[in-house]
Amino acid sequence: MENSDIVLSVKNLCKTYEGTGHKVQALKNVSFHLYRGELLAVMGTSGSGKSTLLNILGALDEPNEGMIMLNGMVKENMFTEPYATQYRRENIGFIFQSFNLLKDLTVEENIALPLILKGKESDEIDKKVRQMLEMVGLMEWKKHRPIQLSGGQQQRVAIARALITSPPIVLADEPTGNLDFNTSTDILNVLVDMKKRFHQSMIVVTHDPFVATYADRVLFFRDGQIVDVYRCTYEQEDLDRILEKFKKIMGKSQ
Ligand code: ADP
Ligand code: MG
Repeated sequence: MENSDIVLSVKNLCKTYEGTGHKVQALKNVSFHLYRGELLAVMGTSGSGKSTLLNILGALDEPNEGMIMLNGMVKENMFTEPYATQYRRENIGFIFQSFNLLKDLTVEENIALPLILKGKESDEIDKKVRQMLEMVGLMEWKKHRPIQLSGGQQQRVAIARALITSPPIVLADEPTGNLDFNTSTDILNVLVDMKKRFHQSMIVVTHDPFVATYADRVLFFRDGQIVDVYRCTYEQEDLDRILEKFKKIMGKSQ
């Protein structure tokens, strides 16, 4: 791959949480690239540092050491307000396990929010919201509130909201963690569809080998480190290979 195909470069990221009397090294020298249009899965058991990584990439948490380059540039002060908020608005689409929709806003208002915060014109907002509603199949639900929707529908709203600004990267933390198997499959297909349509670069954190089979590449995390990588073939064998590697890691986990 060419360097210009790299959207995100992470070098030697370290994060230590200092609690009362004990330290947790959540990330130890984590380095990797995310390629343009790539769906990268980050897999690991609970406590392996996946959310810490995602929170740092999204400027929700600050690393102790390391470098993050987006489109070949280090963003100055990306962990200091007000720059952190600006960084998030310009560069990141978030998708969370618990959907995190605003309950008092309608579906279309939730989806429009990132564009409203960016100060876009209402004509442009209306057009984009309609496009997104169509893409996630929620046109008939646009006036509803999140509580009136199923979990899968709520996650579709969250996906539309994350993608409406065409951010350089989408970060998803266990996006199917609250959904049943069939709904999870639906949501994963929506993500893959978005990746293909918009050449969207995404990082999906998961502890579920099945979810990881939807990725292009899988990074395996153990105790805050990348310990293995798998490039998917999009064939049946991916699940077996990912399971095999995951079992190996779990066996070695403390
Ligand atoms: P994962 O998402 O893979 O389950 P996390 O990134 O949430 O893992 O956590 C990695 C490690 O850091 C765990 O040992 C966790 O207990 C610890 N940790 C996470 N957040 C905090 C925090 N805010 N304060 C102290 N320790 C934390
Ligand atoms: Mg987590």
